[in-house]
Amino acid sequence: MKTMWAPWRMEYILADKQQGCIFCDALSENDDLTLFKGNDTLVVMNKFPYINGHLLVAPVRHLSALGQLRKYEMGELLAAIERSVDILKRVMHPDGFNVGLNLGKVAGAGVEDHLHFHIVPRWFGDTNALTVFADVRVIPEHLQVTYSNLKPHFDTLTL
Ligand SMILES: [Zn+2]
Repeated sequence: MKTMWAPWRMEYILADKQQGCIFCDALSENDDLTLFKGNDTLVVMNKFPYINGHLLVAPVRHLSALGQLRKYEMGELLAAIERSVDILKRVMHPDGFNVGLNLGKVAGAGVEDHLHFHIVPRWFGDTNALTVFADVRVIPEHLQVTYSNLKPHFDTLTL
């Protein structure tokens, strides 16, 4: 098993956890990392990514359990995941993806109150390439570049 080297995660671990919900804030404020705001689904860049292009897909409604989702929301979420994967493929050409849900702190959920799926693009050998991004100060630039590359595609996204 390879260990992912993601030192900028320390920034997240050490940061004061903000009050409120990052997903609900992304809807109400002019968040510069929000790629897509639909009627029932939103797509944001992970501010503390495991790797470049790490996206989060969440329902618009603030809810924490799968069982609280309505049928149409489940459909919209999966559609948003499918379209996000498609855009990442076209723009960033990854070799594969990890897509998943962390339920509960023990499973690694950073934000427990608002359900969200992770989309993590993977490249062959990316565990080695990750050390390139070791300086936390570099990451916001990577985020903005990635955001600028992805945003035009999400601007034309319909679910
Ligand atoms: Zn929320």
